[in-house]
Amino acid sequence: MVTKTDVREGELAVDLPKASNASLYFIGRIRTPWTSRDMTPRQGRQDGPVCRLEVFEPWVPALKGVDFYSNLEVIYWLHQSRRDLVLQSPKNNRNTRGAFSLRSPVRPNPIGTSIVKLVGVEGNVVLVRGLDCLDETPLLDIKPDRCEFTPLAQPHPGDFEAE
Ligand code: SAM
Repeated sequence: MVTKTDVREGELAVDLPKASNASLYFIGRIRTPWTSRDMTPRQGRQDGPVCRLEVFEPWVPALKGVDFYSNLEVIYWLHQSRRDLVLQSPKNNRNTRGAFSLRSPVRPNPIGTSIVKLVGVEGNVVLVRGLDCLDETPLLDIKPDRCEFTPLAQPHPGDFEAE
C-alpha cells in the first residue's frame, strides 16, 4: 500500500527504529513527465520518454566520461514512499510478499534503480530513457551499466577468487 498509513488485509507495518548511520548526498534531481504515482510506470522502458538527470554542484565534474556508455544505472531516492510495510499485498487480495521479494517503492530504504539508455549529456544534465520515478525525485548516483563496464584499475587477487 503506497499511502502513508493504510494497511491492506494481511499486510504488516512495523514501528520504524530511529534512523541512524548512513547519510546520503542528493547529487541532483530527476525531471520526468510524471507527477502522480498512479501515472508513473511500474518499471521504466527503454523506449519511454526522455527524462533529465540534473546534477548539482559540486558533483558536475563527476559526469566526465559518462557519455562513453550507452547504458547507465541510475539510483534514486523514492522520497514519497512509506518505509514501514514489511509484508505487502500488491494485488490487494490478502496474499502477501515480503518487501525484499518485491521491487515495490515501499521499503525500509526507498532506493530505486533503473538501467537507462543514454540519450546525451548537456552540461550538468544527462538525458536518458527508461525511468519510472516522479518528477523531482532526488538523484543518488549514476554508474555505468555493469554489463558494459570493465574495471579500469589494475586487477587484484580478489578478482580471481572462486568458491
Ligand atoms: N525501477 C525501480 C526499481 O525497480 O528499483 C523503481 C520501481 S518502483 C515499482 C516504481 C514505482 O514507484 C512507480 O510506479 C511509482 O508508483 C513509485 N514512485 C516513483 N517515484 C516515486 C517517488 N519519488 N516516491 C515514491 N514513490 C515513487
